Amino acid sequence: MADLPPIEKRLAALLQLVAEEIRPCKACGVQLAFVRHRNGKLTPYTYEAVNHFIDCPLADGFRQDKKAPARPLPTMPRIAK
Ligand SMILES: [Zn+2]
Repeated sequence: MADLPPIEKRLAALLQLVAEEIRPCKACGVQLAFVRHRNGKLTPYTYEAVNHFIDCPLADGFRQDKKAPARPLPTMPRIAK
């Protein structure tokens, strides 16, 4: 086998090629590569190729989003009392 760069470098290079967006995590600041899964979902990966939804030390912020969504559903009808 040819002399290959370390796996970390190859992963980082691959992630940069396939990612739609590269930016740091809003919660913990680690650099992330956002990769579109085949089911259409954009998912953040660290350069260690770990899904950052699992990996983030401050993932409580993600869960809070689910409890109190920033944007209410636009089609939700309001019933007047
Ligand atoms: Zn994070």
